[in-house]
Amino acid sequence: MKITLTPEVEAAIRAHATEEYPHECCGALLGREGESKRIIEQVIRLANERIDERERRFYVSPQQVLMAERRAREAGLLLLGFYHSHPDHPAVPSEYDREHALPYYSYPIVSVVQGAPAELRSWRLQEDRSGFIEEQLTVPPTRAG
Ligand SMILES: [Zn+2]
Repeated sequence: MKITLTPEVEAAIRAHATEEYPHECCGALLGREGESKRIIEQVIRLANERIDERERRFYVSPQQVLMAERRAREAGLLLLGFYHSHPDHPAVPSEYDREHALPYYSYPIVSVVQGAPAELRSWRLQEDRSGFIEEQLTVPPTRAG
């Protein structure tokens, strides 16, 4: 599976992760889908609704998912996934992430090391939910001018 982030989307995810550090940030991904290929064109910042352990956990309520789906529809786009940050941890899904993820969606994770955004990798849950498969993530260079 391939996933492309526009440069603006990548910058928005890194900025959000930096602002929320040392807590986890999370947000929704809106974009278009073709044959085994996704292009993410917009992000929506979501509140991390976990009240405990916000350094290590995030929780997106069904209400926020519905809101994101409505915003996507209004923009003529699809809700394709959710990003979050891993403060001072690698950009690899945790066991908690696996238990709370759903097949179909893309889950980019950005590692934030001592306040600075670092590695960004994207994951998709296998249909049997046994584990994640890494997506091939690309960010095209910003257009000149
Ligand atoms: Zn995580």
